Amino acid sequence: MSTKSNENELPEGFKDIRCIICPTGCLVHVENVNGELIIEGHSCKRGEVYAREEFVAPKRILTTTMRVEKGFLPLIPVRSDKPIPKDKLGETLKLIAKTQIKAPIKMGEKLIENVLGLEINIIASRDLIEI
Ligand code: SF4
Repeated sequence: MSTKSNENELPEGFKDIRCIICPTGCLVHVENVNGELIIEGHSCKRGEVYAREEFVAPKRILTTTMRVEKGFLPLIPVRSDKPIPKDKLGETLKLIAKTQIKAPIKMGEKLIENVLGLEINIIASRDLIEI
């Protein structure tokens, strides 16, 4: 399958991206040719969408730990509830590193809301009881 589209503010060059949407793992070639995005190698629309986003504005679910006050453990595993733009991961990690949360904590509890104004929350990945 091959797709062409014109978009503003495209990164230069090309990327070969392994699609992770399903176990088939197609290798998708995405290239900016004179401002036109050429996408080749995907077998379905979902792979095209994934590869385009990975090329234009890659995002990741962030997983890390946060310091806990009065907790059964000193750290709690946390994650973003939506994928975060890759260029905001460092800033988000710094914010999490500066934050300390008080136990008890429930799995899924929002520990930092609307991080960096991105409408993404940092949530607890497990329960943590107080000591
Ligand atoms: S392009 Fe489609 S078929 Fe290929 S790995 Fe991605 S989701 Fe699966």
